[in-house]
Amino acid sequence: MTGAGKDTVGKADLHVHTTASDGLFSAEEVVSLCERRGVQVVAIADHDTTAGVRQLISRVGESWSAGRAMSWSSSFYHRGVEIIPAVEINAELDEKEVHILGYFVPVDPGSEFAILLDTLRRSRMDRVRAMVLRLEELGFPVELERILSFAKGESVGRPHVGQAMVQKGYVSSVKEAFEKYLGTGKPAYVPRAHLTPVQAVKSIVRAGGVAVWAHPGTAGCDHLLEKLVENGLDGLECLHPEHSPEDTRRYAALAREYSLIATGGSDFHGPGSGEGGELGEWVVDYSVVTLLKEVRLKRGLQTAGR
Ligand code: AMP
Ligand code: FE
Ligand code: FE
Ligand code: ZN
Repeated sequence: MTGAGKDTVGKADLHVHTTASDGLFSAEEVVSLCERRGVQVVAIADHDTTAGVRQLISRVGESWSAGRAMSWSSSFYHRGVEIIPAVEINAELDEKEVHILGYFVPVDPGSEFAILLDTLRRSRMDRVRAMVLRLEELGFPVELERILSFAKGESVGRPHVGQAMVQKGYVSSVKEAFEKYLGTGKPAYVPRAHLTPVQAVKSIVRAGGVAVWAHPGTAGCDHLLEKLVENGLDGLECLHPEHSPEDTRRYAALAREYSLIATGGSDFHGPGSGEGGELGEWVVDYSVVTLLKEVRLKRGLQTAGR
């Protein structure tokens, strides 16, 4: 990519997973795919981890060190693709899953925010251990090592349990594993310690990041919106593969009403994962990235020196 217009034009996919959580492609592979498909900006938004972003930062190597003036929460370029550091926190309230995206969050392993993510990942691991016991009781023994071999990164989740169940021949797809055993309320479901949606928004904002409600159409609790806005919510993910065109319009209208940024992304997890859309097919204009950056800058100034 040439430098021309680098900061002002282009298509952005603001919601992509990697092998650091339950995506099937490494962060490096995701960036190559963006390059091939003409996606100029990508937000790496793994569940409860920023390890994928850190892997890319280490690839950028020298140029990253040279640009150390950049804080650990800035976007950066790799193979001509702009990478936005992000995270997706699966919060829960009244047995409803509410996912909150945090853009421009700090990726420094020593930060207070990173310590919070460590705690969330430990709760994931505890839950997977409990699910192994539950599956054994149900007559579907699955070795923990097998599950962890699918979790190539550091954030283990139910999709990895599902992949191990497919390998054992208990189900034919991860989707089926969720529908029959792993989904909320199903026989092998075990709850885990979650943040509430308000806690997730506040943690992201306190860390200087930009908080966006991910695929609100899947949560079925629009009534939470006002409370989240009061606690610092900055945006609504309007464009998402799980949203109908009507959902997209409705959330875009709500975003206007509450002065929120209307974002969008593919939630790409990789082919055959049963989750998300195709990389490159769910993109928003660069102007959305500019709005996110404006909030980040304002917030960075507010949190500086605290
Ligand atoms: P966990 O993070 O362990 O709570 O698992 C939730 C993740 O599993 C979500 O973020 C999705 O990526 C994935 N997921 C949820 N439902 C399904 C499904 N029906 N089929 C495949 N993956 C799913
Ligand atoms: Fe996922
Ligand atoms: Fe999500
Ligand atoms: Zn996601």
